[in-house]
Amino acid sequence: MAMTAPSPTPVRIPPTKLLIGGAWVDAADGKTFETRNPATEELIANVAQAGPEDAGRAVRAARAALEEGPWGTMRASERSRLMFAFADKVRANAEAIIALESLDGGKPISSVRRQDYPAMLDCLEYYAGWPDKIMGDVVPVRPDALTYIERVPVGVVAAIVPWNFPLMNSMWKIAPALACGCTVVLKPASETPLTALLLGELALEAGIPPGVLNILPGPGSGAGMSLVTNPDVDKISFTGSPGVGKTIMAGAAPLITRLTLELGGKSPNLIFADADVEAAVKGASAGIFFNSGQVCSAGSRVLVHESIYDKFCELMVARSKTLKVGDPRDEKTYMGPIISQKQLTSIMGYIDSGKSEGATLLSGGDRVGTKGYFMEPTVFTNVDNSMKIAREEIFGPVAAVIKFKDEAEAVRIANDSPFSLAAGVWTKDIGLAHAMARKLRAGTVWINTYGQSDTRLPWGGLGGDSGMGRDLGPAAIDNYTDKKTIWVNLRR
Ligand code: NAD
Repeated sequence: MAMTAPSPTPVRIPPTKLLIGGAWVDAADGKTFETRNPATEELIANVAQAGPEDAGRAVRAARAALEEGPWGTMRASERSRLMFAFADKVRANAEAIIALESLDGGKPISSVRRQDYPAMLDCLEYYAGWPDKIMGDVVPVRPDALTYIERVPVGVVAAIVPWNFPLMNSMWKIAPALACGCTVVLKPASETPLTALLLGELALEAGIPPGVLNILPGPGSGAGMSLVTNPDVDKISFTGSPGVGKTIMAGAAPLITRLTLELGGKSPNLIFADADVEAAVKGASAGIFFNSGQVCSAGSRVLVHESIYDKFCELMVARSKTLKVGDPRDEKTYMGPIISQKQLTSIMGYIDSGKSEGATLLSGGDRVGTKGYFMEPTVFTNVDNSMKIAREEIFGPVAAVIKFKDEAEAVRIANDSPFSLAAGVWTKDIGLAHAMARKLRAGTVWINTYGQSDTRLPWGGLGGDSGMGRDLGPAAIDNYTDKKTIWVNLRR
C-alpha cells in the first residue's frame, strides 16, 4: 500500500531505555528489541529489553520511592498537584503524543486525536483530583473505644498492558495508582513501547519523584513474568488476553498477590426488529471495525432478528465498503493496519475457519496490499454460535452475523460465551432494552449505542475469560488502596 500523506507533526521519540528509579538505563544484559511501524513494516527504534534482573531493580526502586522517597510522606494535596503538573506536560505535548501513538501502533491519527488521547488525559486529570478525597471512616463501635478505618495505598503496583490502546491502558493503571499513593512498575507491550516511555519522560519533567513510575519495555516472558512472581510486588494490574491472564493468575497464586484481570471479549450486539436500522448498522459497523477490530469490547457477534436479517447484512456490507483502510497518518483513514504479521496470520486463520465451518463470507476476508498489515473489513453471515469465529476472540475486523428468532433465543445466544465484557442492544422498546440489560451477562451494556466508555464509569468483565475486577471510576481507587482498622482504647 502506497504511503503518501506526510506526517504533519514531527514525532518525538522518547529515550528508548528502561526507566528505573528516575534514570534511563540499559537492560542489565544489554539486550534490545525492535519496534516497527505496522503500516510500513519499517524500523522505528531499537528499545532496551527488560529482563528478570531489571524487573528486580525496578521493583526495588518503586519500593524505595514508596518507603524512603518523598512519595510516601507527601501530603495528598501535593501528590494531586504533581499529577496535575504531569497532566499539564501531557497537554503541552499533545500532538507529539498523538503522532507517536499512531506511529507505533498503526492507529489512525484521527481516532487517536479524537478518542485515545483525550480519554487518556481525562483519566489523568480525573484521578489527579482524587488524592485528598480518599477518605476513611470512623465507626461507632463502643463508648470506650475510638474505632476507625484508614485507606492505605496497597504499595508497589506492577501494571502490565497490551498494544491495542497503549496510552489509555497505561494511564488507566498509572493514574489511579499514583492518586492512591502507590508506586508503579509499568510494562508496556513489546509491540508498542514508545508512548509509555514518553509518558515516563513527561512524568519526570513534571516533578513526579524518581522511582514512583518505572517503565520496563520488553516481552512478557522476561520482565513481565518476573514482576508477577516478585514477592515485593503488592498488586498486579493486568490487561491482556485470557491465556496470559491465566498464566499470571497461576504465577501470582503462591504469593496470593492482589490481582485485577481485564481480559478479552466476544461481545454480542443485539439488533431487534424495531431498531432504527440505519443507526444500528452504523453502531454495529463501528463496534467491530473501529481500531481494525483490535478492541477488547469489539461487537464481534452481531445478533440480528430474522425479520430484518437480510436487509441488515446488505447495509452492513455497504457500510463496510465506505470505510477507508490505509495510511494511519491520513486524517480520513478509519482502519489502520493490524498490529503485526503474527496477528494478521492469526486473523487469516479465522477467515479460513469460518469458511470451512460453513459460514458465508459476504464481504472482505483479504489482506490489503503487500506492505503493512492491512486487512479488509470482513462480514460473515449465516454464522452459528458454535462456530470457532463466534466463540473465539479474533481481534480483527471480522463480524460474525448471527440470526435470532425471538428475545429468549437472542439472550441464550448472547450469553452462550466464555466472555462477559460488554454487549449492545438496539431497540426502540424501552422495556425490552432494560430487560435485555438485566439479562445479558456483560460488565457494560450499551443501549442504542456501542463502545462508549468514560473515566468515571467502572470497566471490566463479569468473570470467565473477560476477567475480574474493575478499571476506572471510583472502583479503581479500591484497586489501589486497602483498609486498615485502628482500635484505640479510651479507658483511662
Ligand atoms: P497479551 O496477553 O498477549 O499481552 C498483554 C501484556 O502481557 C503485554 O504487555 C505482554 O508483553 C504481557 N505478557 C505476555 N506474557 C506474559 C507473561 N507470561 N507474564 C507477564 N506478562 C506477560 O495481549 P495482547 O495481545 O497484547 O492484547 C490483546 C488482548 O488484550 C485481547 O485479548 C484483548 O481483549 C485484551 N484487552 C482487554 C482489555 C480490557 O479492558 N478488558 C483492553 C484491551 C485489551
